[in-house]
Amino acid sequence: MEKLKIAIQKSGRLSEKSLQLLNECGIKVSNGDRKLRTEARNFPMEILFLRDDDIPQYVENGVADIGILGENEVWEKEKDVDEIEKLGFGNCRLSLAIPKDEVYTNLDYFHGKRIATSYPKILKKYFGVKGIDVKIEELGGSVEIATGIGLADGIFDIVSTGSTLIMNGLKEVEAIIKSEAVLIANKSLNEVKQELLERFLFRIRAYKRGMGSKYIVMNAPNSSIPRICSILPGMKSPSILPLAEEGWSSVHSVVQEDQFWDVIDALKDVNAQGILVMNIEKMIL
Ligand code: ATP
Ligand code: MG
Repeated sequence: MEKLKIAIQKSGRLSEKSLQLLNECGIKVSNGDRKLRTEARNFPMEILFLRDDDIPQYVENGVADIGILGENEVWEKEKDVDEIEKLGFGNCRLSLAIPKDEVYTNLDYFHGKRIATSYPKILKKYFGVKGIDVKIEELGGSVEIATGIGLADGIFDIVSTGSTLIMNGLKEVEAIIKSEAVLIANKSLNEVKQELLERFLFRIRAYKRGMGSKYIVMNAPNSSIPRICSILPGMKSPSILPLAEEGWSSVHSVVQEDQFWDVIDALKDVNAQGILVMNIEKMIL
């Protein structure tokens, strides 16, 4: 039987989350012995463990059908692959940083400067558009020490909290672009693989929706129900069930995580009581 071949990062910041995503999609993978390739037990999928740098190339030439990696690597490698779905983890930004005691004015600061990076293509494009001439020093890793050892005047690198920069005596002066983990796919999958990808995507989306939502339940006097209904966004209208106590109901609904606290505040104001909040594991529309 044909299998969908997925490439994920072998060991690094995206490895655990990638395996967790498969697991949440009901695809059981065991990689206890750190093999480079393994098969899922209950879905026609083969998993290849690779360096993230190599994933775009392997997905382009069909060694893998799909892959999970940071958008930053997709942009840098400029391979001919489809970006299918953002995955909501591995969030970071690509930023310019300079030694902390330097005085920074604006982007013109970088005129004629040497910048060390593992992302030369992204950086070249960026400064090209801005019409600023810089000298790019390409490094495979440990970019943050480049200024300290006199290799460059500034760096262009991945930042998430910024603590690595601070530890190396740097300050972030421009955040250029945001990145997160994405699912990419080969552009000419056959029909069987296309269908397997659709099944996988269906599960990913159900999981992502669930992650971004909360299930809430509360009690309220019947007189408050119309106002509560106007506050709750819900998938359709909320469900309303009568309580044993006369004149009271229990209201059930789904709230998006980013609106969550505003909704709770508004509900308290209209007499909702005993509000329970639960995580949603999967949500199928
Ligand atoms: P590999 O050995 O596979 O080439 P790597 O060293 O290139 O690994 P990692 O440091 O494991 O890569 O990061 C993988 C991806 O995780 C990055 O390309 C980026 O998209 C994402 N990421 C998220 N937060 C961070 C962070 N704070 N630092 C580095 N990468 C991050
Ligand atoms: Mg890498």
